[in-house]
Amino acid sequence: MTKTTPEGRKTLGSRTKLVHAGRHPFEQYGFVNTPIYRGSTVLFPTYADLISRNARFTYGTSGTPTTEALETAWTEISGAAGTVLAPSGLAAITLALLTATQAGDEILVTDSVYRPTRNFCDTLLRRNGVSTIYYDPLIGSGIEALLTPKTRLVFLETPGSQSFEIQDIPAIAAVAQKHGICTVLDNTWATPLHFPPHRFGIDMAVEAGTKYLSGHSDLLLGLVSANAAWYPRLRETYDLFSMCPGPEDVFLALRGLRSMELRLREAERQGLIMAEWLAGREEVMQVLHPALPSCPGHAIWKRDFSGASGLFSVVLAPCPQKAVAALLDGLTLFGMGFSWGGYESLVIPFDCRTYRTATKWAPEGPALRFSIGLEDTDDLKADLEAGFARLKSACG
Ligand SMILES: *Cc1c(COP(=O)(O)O)cnc(C)c1O
Repeated sequence: MTKTTPEGRKTLGSRTKLVHAGRHPFEQYGFVNTPIYRGSTVLFPTYADLISRNARFTYGTSGTPTTEALETAWTEISGAAGTVLAPSGLAAITLALLTATQAGDEILVTDSVYRPTRNFCDTLLRRNGVSTIYYDPLIGSGIEALLTPKTRLVFLETPGSQSFEIQDIPAIAAVAQKHGICTVLDNTWATPLHFPPHRFGIDMAVEAGTKYLSGHSDLLLGLVSANAAWYPRLRETYDLFSMCPGPEDVFLALRGLRSMELRLREAERQGLIMAEWLAGREEVMQVLHPALPSCPGHAIWKRDFSGASGLFSVVLAPCPQKAVAALLDGLTLFGMGFSWGGYESLVIPFDCRTYRTATKWAPEGPALRFSIGLEDTDDLKADLEAGFARLKSACG
């Protein structure tokens, strides 16, 4: 224990919780950080202890002091009843989906969902007899019209992957609760710091720790927090799969946790500077940043969220693909690659028109997604300014 307890920290602020949660210096000779426990075998002192599994830890897959530290810290920060870890964000999503579904069920999934989640629903879940119906992310309480006696789960993600629609979580959660339907939220963008999921009625919330918890593009990790109604079932699913993350990754995530609020706040500040600058460019038709009025659902973001992160999208004025390539290929500071939330700024082109089924996503021009890092924003602007010049000359 630090000198505070989880109970005593309830009245303390989230920054204090981030510093103190999940640490036990005096159980480890006073050293500040929980060490990396590596291991499969855990020894039991006696026959009786072994037979009754009488030990705080029993085997590597079911938990170590390192994994327990991250789980308990995340539970506290999320306002959950418990948390399980997974070796990636996508693995965490599949754990949540498999916890609450069985053959014969229907699930409702937002049309703006992270695409690998969609792939999982359309292949493995479908083969296992669970059918997926996609819904308009902006549906709000209108989701009630889509419910059937077979509806078991509503999957939400806000803002939407790439296209940034903000969902009315309280409205959707209220409908689900009324009908006893489980809600799962991919909360990666906001993290529990900007959107405490369970306070808004969500049953299970997923975080890709790969993003802001890591903050350095050097690990893969997923977390699922659950309320009291769903945590026992979630823990059971976790134990059945034994899909545990590696101890170094958990250690790095704990390390990242301590400074996550600072990094997130800076990502928000830098992201807003860049989003506002992009909004003023003639090459940009629309900025899809939840904190700007041009984003669908902006008013709901303002009502429900306490902040933004550094990830947003823009729609460019119509131009040929080769012009977009000219813009992107010559950038020297922005990297091109998947994932986000690291210290380095990234940009990727995207096009959700091809796979949406419940809604039509029809931007007038090509779309780009930015993850703004920790560089000097004047340098980032100059890099993009030169890119826009290349775009213009490639348009002819
Ligand atoms: C990246 C991401 C994931 C998956 O995380 P991985 O660790 O890369 O598997 C899930 N949801 C969202 C919204 C993401 O951006």
